[in-house]
Amino acid sequence: MSQVLIGLVFSAALGGLGYWRGALSPSGVLGALIVGTLMYSLGGLNWAILLVVFFTSSSALSFYRQRDKIGLAEKFAKGHRRDLGQALANAGLAALLAAGAAVWPSPRWFLAATGAMAAVNADTWATEIGVLSPTRPRLITTGQPIETGTSGGLTLTGTAAALAGALLIGLVAAGLRLAEGASPGSALALAGAGTAAGLIGSLVDSLLGATVQVVYFCDRCHKETERAVHGCGQATRRLRGWPWLNNDGVNFLSSTAGALIAMTLGGYGH
Ligand SMILES: [Zn+2]
Repeated sequence: MSQVLIGLVFSAALGGLGYWRGALSPSGVLGALIVGTLMYSLGGLNWAILLVVFFTSSSALSFYRQRDKIGLAEKFAKGHRRDLGQALANAGLAALLAAGAAVWPSPRWFLAATGAMAAVNADTWATEIGVLSPTRPRLITTGQPIETGTSGGLTLTGTAAALAGALLIGLVAAGLRLAEGASPGSALALAGAGTAAGLIGSLVDSLLGATVQVVYFCDRCHKETERAVHGCGQATRRLRGWPWLNNDGVNFLSSTAGALIAMTLGGYGH
């Protein structure tokens, strides 16, 4: 019970800080409370630290060169204040894995959570840095140059950022396991599996974004957008993609891919 209380206090502090800095909407604070409390009370301190690293680094990057990103805001499904849907899409799977770890204790849950958090961290870094790329992105499926900010686009800058974002989560997870007395070999395996899972997971995100993620069209502005209601106030119409699979759904699926890849590559039990 006291773990739940500590988790609540820790998440409220994180959510409050996010709200105060403009990184979270009110519903995003609720999201931080839910995932933060579950990850701390069910997973433990290491899980909470992964969440903090993801949250603080992603928030900081979304403020990086903010003025250069203003024109892109209307294209994305949401502004840079993360809401409940985004919080659950990014950390919901890790919170579910924490529940698994509480019921059937095994280090494999943390390996899976490392892959999941590495994937969403890689994807967020790729988006926040990739939109600043001096060259136009190319669609992951066809290689055609596309408009900056379009889901499914790849740039060298964004892919390097994805690798760095995945590596950070992999290294932090490995450091935490080392501090708990894990062997250097198993920590290295965790860092490698987490980094690879994060990078591949972010590519899965791009692939889904290029193929099946829902894309709308604003008839007033004649622009593609991920918003059901465009920034201009006009209701948009679906242009392509599965109607139920928005950007949040794609993020959740890429975190799932990250978890599965980490578990496939991971080096526990040796
Ligand atoms: Zn419009």
